[in-house]
Amino acid sequence: MTTIKDIRELSYPELVDYCLSINEPDYRATQIFEWIYQKSTSSFDEMRNLSETLKNQLNKDFVFKPLDIEKKEVSEDGTTKFLFNLDDGQRVETVLIPAKTRTTVCVSTQAGCKFGCKFCASGIGGWTRNLATAEILAQILHVKEESLKHKKPLSHVVFMGVGEPLDNFDYLMKAIRMINNKKALNIGARRITVSTCGVIPKIHDLGKQGLQIELAISLHGFDNDSRNVLMPVNKKYPFNELMKACREYIKSTKRQITFEYILIKDVTCSNEAVQSLKKAFQGMICKMNLIPYNPVKEFDHQTPTRQEIYQFKDQLEKFGVHATVRMPRGRDISGACGQLRLRQ
Ligand code: SAH
Repeated sequence: MTTIKDIRELSYPELVDYCLSINEPDYRATQIFEWIYQKSTSSFDEMRNLSETLKNQLNKDFVFKPLDIEKKEVSEDGTTKFLFNLDDGQRVETVLIPAKTRTTVCVSTQAGCKFGCKFCASGIGGWTRNLATAEILAQILHVKEESLKHKKPLSHVVFMGVGEPLDNFDYLMKAIRMINNKKALNIGARRITVSTCGVIPKIHDLGKQGLQIELAISLHGFDNDSRNVLMPVNKKYPFNELMKACREYIKSTKRQITFEYILIKDVTCSNEAVQSLKKAFQGMICKMNLIPYNPVKEFDHQTPTRQEIYQFKDQLEKFGVHATVRMPRGRDISGACGQLRLRQ
């Protein structure tokens, strides 16, 4: 059985090749890209400046349809979570995060997650498969359209949804190039963030891509032992090697890294943690995002008090780390990663 490709699998040069192969001029590729990525269409039939013959041919050769929404939940703060059904019955979660005048989309890259971090809901049901480039882009297109309704155009993309982006490297890279491409979504590379749990070989590969994107590292542990407990990936890619890979990445790309660090009461925000992080970050110019733990009922953790959170931040700042506290958004709608999918 041959499966028909989603048109969003095609890069711009691939679409040009296709147009030429069916005796259409190459500028058709530009027109089709505009309809898909800039004018929010969701079918070939809406592409008014294409001939009937071409529309019929496209309908024969490709799939192009919006994602099927299973659920949409809107939080008091405007954060909106979508749960989509994919063709094979898998489900993905996508989050729209509004700011004053613009919108960020938090995108999933895999159905489930194989990394099993001991605070994250995404890994609880295990991993099923990688998402295809078209499935990654379709999430963004959906949120782009939604954001226009609220007059807060989509400006930022963060790969912090379900799954490990660097474990789906090739499809991710293809999607990022389309997000960045002027003829497609035209979102600046610096407004695209890839977050990883620390897959070292892929951090090296990412550094060689020549992209100006932002890299975030989910650190969460303050030394090898504490990271071993929270993140099984640390057994394969230990704390010190990860920090070394980060230093190499910063040196070779001349870009900063943001470290994400979860604040779990009595686990990650002790004095010992401050001292250890001080050592680990010595001489490194970086940002640290402190994320208060968002309760997931399958784990037995607690969120620190506000006072504990800010005390920890102040201590880090004292030794020169630029730390910000990321206050939870959309808590009332199961804000933490992977929770919506799990609740079904
Ligand atoms: N696999 C990648 C991409 C997912 S990012 C990575 O690990 O970076 C998911 C982020 O959600 C993690 O950095 C973590 O900070 C956050 N997260 C997951 N579960 C959380 C929870 N219960 N409370 C707060 N943040 C959580």
